[in-house]
Amino acid sequence: MAAQQIHNPVLLTKVCNDILPTASTLQKWNYQETDECVLCHQHEDRDHLIRCNGTSRLLWRIKFIVALRKTLIKKKTHWQLSDVICTSLTEWMDEGYVDIRNYHEDFHLAITAQNKIGWRNFFAGKISQQWLNLHDLFSNNKCKHSQSYVWGASIVETTLQLMIDLWNLRNEEVHGKTANEKEQKRKHRLLKKIDECFAKITEMRPSDRCLMPENRDTFVESSTSNDLAEWLASHQKMIKNSIDKWKKRSEKGSRNIGDCLKTFSAKNKEILENIYTRHRDRLMHDAWNKKK
Ligand SMILES: [Zn+2]
Repeated sequence: MAAQQIHNPVLLTKVCNDILPTASTLQKWNYQETDECVLCHQHEDRDHLIRCNGTSRLLWRIKFIVALRKTLIKKKTHWQLSDVICTSLTEWMDEGYVDIRNYHEDFHLAITAQNKIGWRNFFAGKISQQWLNLHDLFSNNKCKHSQSYVWGASIVETTLQLMIDLWNLRNEEVHGKTANEKEQKRKHRLLKKIDECFAKITEMRPSDRCLMPENRDTFVESSTSNDLAEWLASHQKMIKNSIDKWKKRSEKGSRNIGDCLKTFSAKNKEILENIYTRHRDRLMHDAWNKKK
């Protein structure tokens, strides 16, 4: 019933089944290297989205409780029941648990039941039947069953809608809001890998070093995020292969053919350049082929 009111079935399914592609999930699937929250650098999973202490998330928590209170008032909920629901959810968001001793015993059955289901699951739309029973108890309406069912569905609807808002907010923070912001953020995320590549230049086989851009800053500034991603796709493997080949040669202790030829004529220079070009072509070719 609550699901019918929210017009984003894909996202709704992800929220309800706890399969939002958070940083920790993406890392698990090898889509990215980090599991960090963009705001506080802690491990980002579904619960962290809600419990993160970044300013925007603190504001979201207030927004959620305000929206929930509004729904509860609209659905003519007894003030005590409203208070307990909002306070216990706030306690879970702040502390990560709900201490039953802080609440009147009339509400213990519902709190214990929600403890068993898991408060985190409240945010996936799984609320205890005991809350509905309490609403029945507090209200004097007839046709109680359908009344409490509609009441429960409206709580779930508000919660899921706010979870979708939270996910959209998180995505804006991670990927940017405008196209320009998205491009800048994507570029920024790729820079770590780009810098790792540049740091390895001195370990590469000397004849391959010219495959690297001359100036890191000019290269980054003049490239789009797509250019950088493509460059990484073709060069990361090549750099590794070049380092491996150079290491092997150093271990064997053999003298670089270039060093021998350099001491001879200009003709040798040309031969040498041909050899180097062949090496480099093979390196790039191997890097692409092994990727496929
Ligand atoms: Zn965080």
